[in-house]
Amino acid sequence: MATIKNYINGEFSLPIANEWIDNYNPANGEIYGQIPNSKKEDVEEAYKSAKSAFRLWSQTTLEERSRILIKISELLEANIDRFAEAESKDNGKPISLAKAIDIPRAASNFRFFGNAITQFASESHESIGQQAINYTLRQPIGVVGCISPWNLPLYLFTWKIAPAIAAGNCVVAKPSEVTPMTAYLLGEICNNAGLPKGVLNIVHGLGSTTGQAIIEHPDIKAISFTGGTATGAHIARVAAPMFKKLSLELGGKNPNIIFADCDYEDMLTTTVRSSFANQGQICLCGSRIFVEVSIYEKFKTDFVKKVNALKVGHPSHEDTNIGALVSKSHLNKVKEYIAIAKEENGTLLCGGNEVVVKGFENGYYLEPTVIEVTNDECRVNQEEVFGPVVTIMPFNTEEEVLAMANKVKYGLSATLWTNDLKRTMKLSSQLQAGIIWVNTWMLRDLRTPFGGIKASGIGREGGFEALRFFTEAKNVCIKY
Ligand code: NAD
Repeated sequence: MATIKNYINGEFSLPIANEWIDNYNPANGEIYGQIPNSKKEDVEEAYKSAKSAFRLWSQTTLEERSRILIKISELLEANIDRFAEAESKDNGKPISLAKAIDIPRAASNFRFFGNAITQFASESHESIGQQAINYTLRQPIGVVGCISPWNLPLYLFTWKIAPAIAAGNCVVAKPSEVTPMTAYLLGEICNNAGLPKGVLNIVHGLGSTTGQAIIEHPDIKAISFTGGTATGAHIARVAAPMFKKLSLELGGKNPNIIFADCDYEDMLTTTVRSSFANQGQICLCGSRIFVEVSIYEKFKTDFVKKVNALKVGHPSHEDTNIGALVSKSHLNKVKEYIAIAKEENGTLLCGGNEVVVKGFENGYYLEPTVIEVTNDECRVNQEEVFGPVVTIMPFNTEEEVLAMANKVKYGLSATLWTNDLKRTMKLSSQLQAGIIWVNTWMLRDLRTPFGGIKASGIGREGGFEALRFFTEAKNVCIKY
């Protein structure tokens, strides 16, 4: 049994109330460890540790902060196998994916912000004719809270922590209780990299106890949250009257719009990936596929053939394309949506059933599922399923597809497949989303602003946007 502990003031500690939660391996449905269900008292300890580290850390030179962040990055890279195996065991994702994407990206997050902080500058404004000069200080906020979800556990956890500490803050962080393992392992890496005690504190537990204690803490002045839209709304209600700074990265229901003039083979291969990578559990997955009517039947045949060829299997097997879903309850939720789609006259083109993987019969496996819909307003087309399920439907005109693409409450990302420049310019400007990919998907440059509009959140992560979020601007005006 693996026992996960909190990481407070550079040390691993047991939860004060000694309350624990079972941790499941989604690949076989077995409990393989326990994690603390930390309470207010544990969060208070983490806060005190962060607060006492703040004065020194916020005065540490940028070169020194940068050096430590880059060291963390190097140690993650040196331990890639151990971290990829841990991520896969906790989450159900193929080890190959964790090794190719999750852990390298976690390392990149530290390296990127270790470098970015040395380039982060503030403005000055000369008030001409008034003999005055203004300059802006970008000061760290103090103690900040970072809360992350289970789908890309270490990847998203570090995407918040790295800019927060690079900017001179100290952090109280909570990973998802469903996937706590790599966050736990990160503590040891931080100690080995020489991160001063208390700069990063990691408390484990349920959202309703540990997470709630973080968002309610009166002296944790900013919350960076990634997770579901309903949780984001709750956090906003709690945090707003306390005037906390908030960054909310929430759900998505992203359109994948395919025109007949695209590079077909490239589109087809990428669309399989944008539909089912990480078992479809990526907020950026293109779960609503709209195809121009002239190539609709061809696409349908070719796409279903490729999807049927995907191998659902144990995450450690090399030929596995689709691993296990993250939990039993999530598997049930996804299955419910497949049933709803059928009730709403959707046609199942492939998938829809649980898969029994030999030797791992109690794992949470589901076939990749493609549903043809005739009404873009049906529930499976409007609500976030967050699993290996996509809908497809044809369209006739740009206007029609634009209207359907925008007719959801979410606005995270959109993908467009076309070689027509005018169409690209028009649609990328009019699609309601924070991120538009044209003839690609999930190609990331960490300098770019990342985030959504509408019910997909507020604020942007990435690049200097993240460093701006984790600092307060203070203007100084000097008359001479
Ligand atoms: P979730 O909202 O259930 O949980 C996310 C985190 O919030 C977890 O750590 C959880 O413990 C915590 N939490 C829950 N209740 C809380 C409370 N009252 N106070 C404080 N913290 C609380 O989401 P999830 O199921 O872990 O993740 C899936 C969701 O995340 C999907 O909707 C997905 O689209 C979204 N997501 C968004 C992005 C993005 O960048 N926009 C990225 C990945 C995932």
